Amino acid sequence: MAATPLYNTQGLKIYNSISGQKETFKPITEGNIGMYVCGPTVYSNVHLGNCRTFISFDMIFRYLKHLGYKVRYVRNITDAGHLENDAEEGEDKVAKKARLEQLEPMEIVQRYTLDFHQVMSKFNAISPSIEPTATGHIVEQIEIIKTIIDNGFAYESNGSVYFDVQKFNETHHYGKLSGRNLEDMIANTRELSAQSDKKNPQDFALWKKAEPQHIMRWPSPWSDGFPGWHLECTVMSTKYLGEQFDIHGGGMDLKFPHHECEIAQGEAACGQTPVNYWMHANMLTLNGKKMSKSTGNTISPEELFSGNNSFLGKPFDATIVRFFMMQAHYRSILDFSNDALEASEKGFYRLMDAIHTVSGLTAGTTTEGFNVEDWKTECYEAMNDDFNTPILIAKLFDAVKFINTVKEQKASISKTDLEILRQTLHDFVFDVLGLVDINEASSDVSDKLSGTVKLLIALRAEARANKDFATSDKIRDELLEIGIQLKDGREGTTFSLN
Ligand code: AMP
Ligand code: ZN
Repeated sequence: MAATPLYNTQGLKIYNSISGQKETFKPITEGNIGMYVCGPTVYSNVHLGNCRTFISFDMIFRYLKHLGYKVRYVRNITDAGHLENDAEEGEDKVAKKARLEQLEPMEIVQRYTLDFHQVMSKFNAISPSIEPTATGHIVEQIEIIKTIIDNGFAYESNGSVYFDVQKFNETHHYGKLSGRNLEDMIANTRELSAQSDKKNPQDFALWKKAEPQHIMRWPSPWSDGFPGWHLECTVMSTKYLGEQFDIHGGGMDLKFPHHECEIAQGEAACGQTPVNYWMHANMLTLNGKKMSKSTGNTISPEELFSGNNSFLGKPFDATIVRFFMMQAHYRSILDFSNDALEASEKGFYRLMDAIHTVSGLTAGTTTEGFNVEDWKTECYEAMNDDFNTPILIAKLFDAVKFINTVKEQKASISKTDLEILRQTLHDFVFDVLGLVDINEASSDVSDKLSGTVKLLIALRAEARANKDFATSDKIRDELLEIGIQLKDGREGTTFSLN
């Protein structure tokens, strides 16, 4: 007989953004979960804020799998239709970058998709089950627009198609996720400009007619144009997960309008609400402000791994950063700082030391000073309470303390308990939190390397100030020869490892 799956014995609760409450999780089909997470718009390198959201959902994916669910995890790549400032008008983010760099839009897409994958794999994130692209689903998008028009919730205007929010709101509720009310939205918006194709300012584009200079365009019954950003996610989620599925996630900033519009589109096209549990991950901030591409208030993963940013006293390994993120609940704001990362690093190595210690411990006849079964239950309780990783980590440190007392022979552990302790630690630390057992010594070497290169950069700057260009060039060229490239910029000189 097959073992009872863990999920049968664990009562998982998920905070559902749409009800504002923690709800007992029940999938549509027993034992199976469909989960969709909005992926990146691939027009530039991901910053650490983006990474936090994807790492949060990686932890969620991991725990669901650990519970024994079969999870189909779909995370898309937005490679068209996302306009500047997340607005309804303006240039496509990918096309703009292509224009500025004089490249094909698909070269931009390829470059930043690759970067995203490399970064996520450094953070030990598991690849989603399906990673569909918006441009690969234009046909399906056209079909769903036709259905929404046929159902009376969209209209064509000058080659573009808009979702009719007021019409929809007569029979449905636009604003149910974000808690907004359409009347208030109308009262707070300015009149439409005379040139607008929309009936009302709240209406959003399902299909946009391309201006002559717009290079990313596809034929459709309405015009040569491109799909609306919100529609892409509706199409890719329903195609792979069905008209109704279990979990939809994304960063908090996507709640409105993006996810609100997805609900409206799903209801307008299929007559049923698309998602049972809406999950929103909170923001990573820097200096108390959201990390954001548009304001430049960001740290890149690359800077973090090399220590190459004035914010950082040293480089940090990806797993330390992941641990730092796991120490906050995914729904809490997390402020980034060098001090907090250093504290996480200390904690991380303490945890790893204990894991190494536990594998060498000898069992006694009884357990004294700790109840391993209760501790294991509490670890699960933390995760079952809306994936509370900071509480889980506090529990893991209770075990660390106990392990160290056993090591000092001030407590003992039975053979059975030792087995449970080892297995549970392994499950949570590596499988669920997704941490990697890195060696403190090798990370120490990378700290020293970065310190040494910074010293050479300073010596080179001194040589240049003294017009000793022979020395400054020698430092640059010889570093390059061993694979360390210096880059001079406005903020000073930085380096990368080739
Ligand atoms: P984008 O590529 O701009 O569509 O964003 C990709 C994902 O990153 C979305 O789910 C955003 O909500 C998320 N995101 C953007 N900025 C941050 C931040 N500072 N902290 C956490 N998540 C963020
Ligand atoms: Zn989306």
